Amino acid sequence: MTLGQKQRKFTRMIAQLIEYAYANGYELTFGDAYRDPRLHGDIGVKKSYSSASSLHKSRLAVDFNLFKGGQYLTTTEAHRPLGEFWKSLHPDCCWGGDFSSPDGNHYSMEWQGRK
Ligand SMILES: [Zn+2]
Repeated sequence: MTLGQKQRKFTRMIAQLIEYAYANGYELTFGDAYRDPRLHGDIGVKKSYSSASSLHKSRLAVDFNLFKGGQYLTTTEAHRPLGEFWKSLHPDCCWGGDFSSPDGNHYSMEWQGRK
């Protein structure tokens, strides 16, 4: 699969994640999606708050702000139902709640060993 093919698959699956969230009583707003290398540095370069090898720089990660009942849910655990659903969509789907430094609002697809 090329990077472009994977980016397009990722975007379509993010639509499924959004639909799943709303079907289960959640609401979402976008946090970071694409991180432009002109601002954040090329892949491998640390230029901002972004990690040097962030998948946001490859259009393969999105951060979501999560709401239920009008309340903003900030914990990684609150994201777990969506994280589990996300991982069920494709073997390359990764959820930030599983990272060694948990990042529960982060939904990504693995690319060249990056998660
Ligand atoms: Zn992220």
